[in-house]
Amino acid sequence: MNYSIDSNGYYGEFGGAYIPEILHRCVSQLQEACRTILPSDDFKREFEDLLKHYVGRPSPLYHAKRLSEKYGCKVYLKREDLNHTGAHKINNAVGQMLLARRMGKSRIIAETGAGQHGVAAATVCALAGMECLVFMGKTDIERQHVNVEKMKMLGAEVVPVTSGNATLKDATNEAIRYWCCHPDDTYYLIGSTVGPHPYPQLVAHLQSVIGEEIARQLPEFEGREYPDYLIACVGGGSNAAGTLLRFVDDLRVHIVLAEAGGLGVDSGKTAATLALGRMGILHGARTYVIQNEDGQVTEPYSISAGLDYPGIGPLHAHLAATKRAEVLAINDDEALRAAYELTRLEGIIPALESAHALAVLPHLQARPDDVVVITVSGRGDKDMDTYLKHQTEFNL
Ligand SMILES: *Cc1c(COP(=O)(O)O)cnc(C)c1O
Repeated sequence: MNYSIDSNGYYGEFGGAYIPEILHRCVSQLQEACRTILPSDDFKREFEDLLKHYVGRPSPLYHAKRLSEKYGCKVYLKREDLNHTGAHKINNAVGQMLLARRMGKSRIIAETGAGQHGVAAATVCALAGMECLVFMGKTDIERQHVNVEKMKMLGAEVVPVTSGNATLKDATNEAIRYWCCHPDDTYYLIGSTVGPHPYPQLVAHLQSVIGEEIARQLPEFEGREYPDYLIACVGGGSNAAGTLLRFVDDLRVHIVLAEAGGLGVDSGKTAATLALGRMGILHGARTYVIQNEDGQVTEPYSISAGLDYPGIGPLHAHLAATKRAEVLAINDDEALRAAYELTRLEGIIPALESAHALAVLPHLQARPDDVVVITVSGRGDKDMDTYLKHQTEFNL
């Protein structure tokens, strides 16, 4: 089975570039830039330099001993929560900013839901002295006050979007619309492995440093580069793609993706795209989409704002369809429990998104010698209000 992208931008039957005519030139320009700029020594040198000295890479691979003892296997945590700005999103934002600058663009636009990608985009624009516009649903602006203030402090303009349910899907539509009107000077910085080709491939490439580091770090503990299990949460799929790309062709590695079950896959309040989605077109790519019988995109729900997206990256849809990856829908209560457990066993407060990956552990049938690597995609500071609201459920 082939898990890499084909020359037309498809992973199996997923992907492609379904875009309005006016963006064809922009997208081909970006494809050309990916071909020529990404492999250049000059780009690689500056990207690696910023990842090391600005983001703080390599992030540690940590052997979680008390968690290992509890689950009867060897659990390692890839600590993306320790990156500058608190999550993996900065890896992608730094890389795309460097690309935009080399393409001669003066303005960066981005979409954001919870505000994490918006903050990462605003951060790299401040760093580069570039203009930054972040499209954000009005509902999300009200829910994510601190991130909105951070973006403004970093010098970005936050553009409220009122169409639809005024959440991430609508913000993405609006960013694409703006791009159509300003194709020449504007670079669209997408935050996950979604959107038209080449974005899913570009974002996966920029995040693949996560898995490359795992392969370099694991031998110190285990004397081998590959784990038996790799676990990551999926919203659009960028931290998972970055974690697994290095290992996707190594069938000794069992890949588990955790998507957001919300209140339950059958509750109507869920973001479990791989469990429920049907083939459709969303934000320029052919992929699974949660939709009703008329093909209307359904508003997703998860306790974790970073996972409630009604689509999924085409790579992940392909990995699920070909059974290369096992997919679990983790419900809100399981994620909360896992977050409290990690906090009390290891002294690490994870992001709610990452807690979905940690909540895979009780479902795993691992043997004592099995090496399990879980990517902790971000830290929990942003989720403290939610954690406090639910603390009584965990007898604290
Ligand atoms: C945004 C976010 C996610 C989900 O995005 P992916 O592209 O699926 O990785 C996961 N974890 C954290 C901490 C996030 O901020």
